[in-house]
Amino acid sequence: MIDLHIHSTCSADGGASIAEYARRAQELGLVEVGLCEHVDFDLRDQTHGYLDPARYDREMATGQATAPEIRLRQGVEITYQASLEAEIRAWLAGRSWDYVIASVHLVDYDDGWAIVSEPSAMEAYFGRHSQRQAYVPYFEELLRAARSGLGDVLGHFDLVKRYGTEHYGRLEPKAFADEIRAVLRAAVETGVGLEINTSGLRQAPGEPYPGLTVLRWYREMGGEIVTVGSDAHLVEHLAAGTDQALAMALAAGFTAITTFEARAPRWITIGDLGTGDTFLQPGGS
Ligand SMILES: [Zn+2]
Ligand SMILES: [Zn+2]
Repeated sequence: MIDLHIHSTCSADGGASIAEYARRAQELGLVEVGLCEHVDFDLRDQTHGYLDPARYDREMATGQATAPEIRLRQGVEITYQASLEAEIRAWLAGRSWDYVIASVHLVDYDDGWAIVSEPSAMEAYFGRHSQRQAYVPYFEELLRAARSGLGDVLGHFDLVKRYGTEHYGRLEPKAFADEIRAVLRAAVETGVGLEINTSGLRQAPGEPYPGLTVLRWYREMGGEIVTVGSDAHLVEHLAAGTDQALAMALAAGFTAITTFEARAPRWITIGDLGTGDTFLQPGGS
């Protein structure tokens, strides 16, 4: 059992310390837990500048001492914005993380910007726009994120469906096949992975970000890097839905999932999780 997308109080919206997650991981018998704290670069974003790397290091050390048998990984989730690529690149340079998740949380639409995970902003936007008008700019920004190579993994691939599902109905990937396949092609070309983010199971979509169809397409196109993350902001969500994520990875044709150490991918055979894991060489999935 593994969960690579967790937010502690080192993120502005996290609700538990790293040590609390470590204790909960012990109770659940997790093999590996990856913290993935937010880093936001846009001055309009209230959480801009929140992460304190020195504090993050200290809390990682405390968490690891709390649960020495669990492999704790130290990652960050950057809010990717094409307009701020230079700043993001400069911030990442010279810092060592186990992995970087690149996520699109903000979309600069032609008629204003919106935070994708902010329900009131999105509902107001959706009320004035078609599903294509709302979703295509999101996928276009995700394409730029994939091409940038800034992240090891793209976070919650189709997060725009989080509030979009209630407004437009279920996201049918076929309706956005050109846009989605362009992102997947770029991800395969640049070696950027996808995560199966299980928070969608707890939210309106009722399926992870992304769902099975997109994951299958990624596999068919040659994708090899898939991580699993709960996007927990609370201890009770640690590892939530990760069983379903592993089942989905198998259904999409993956036999192994990926983790990272010092930004180098390693593969764990899915059947071996929980019974002592086996690391494979790149390409072994
Ligand atoms: Zn996110
Ligand atoms: Zn997150």
